[in-house]
Amino acid sequence: MNSECLFCRIIAGELPSTVVHETETTFAFRDLHPQARTHILIVPRAHFTDAVDLAKGQPELLTDITLAAGQIAQQEGLAEPGYRLVFNTGPAAGQTVFHVHMHLLGGEQLGHFGAP
Ligand code: 5GP
Ligand code: ZN
Repeated sequence: MNSECLFCRIIAGELPSTVVHETETTFAFRDLHPQARTHILIVPRAHFTDAVDLAKGQPELLTDITLAAGQIAQQEGLAEPGYRLVFNTGPAAGQTVFHVHMHLLGGEQLGHFGAP
């Protein structure tokens, strides 16, 4: 745990969040500023900066958060219509929290993505 890290503090329960799913290695909670009707953040409990850092350090956790996303999509009724999984990586992509997090977006028809 990195005590300077917002998401480490959320995972530790030091800061509040709306938890939607938990496993031994993963934690998922609703985004404070949802960008779609359903917007959930899925993180490994272990602190890694971004998706590539995670893949280099503990690649099995990439699988764990992806499987968690699939279970959450089922739980939220999104599996059939579909949903989007996103890793913003670095400031140019809008990454603001440097504890790797997968965004799960859905619950409505999503627009195409790319440049703002
Ligand atoms: P990023 O921009 O790094 O890809 O995503 C960070 C996400 O974390 C943003 O969508 C932002 O709304 C969300 N966020 C920032 N602070 C908090 C917080 O304290 N609680 C929750 N639940 N989400 C947060
Ligand atoms: Zn962290």
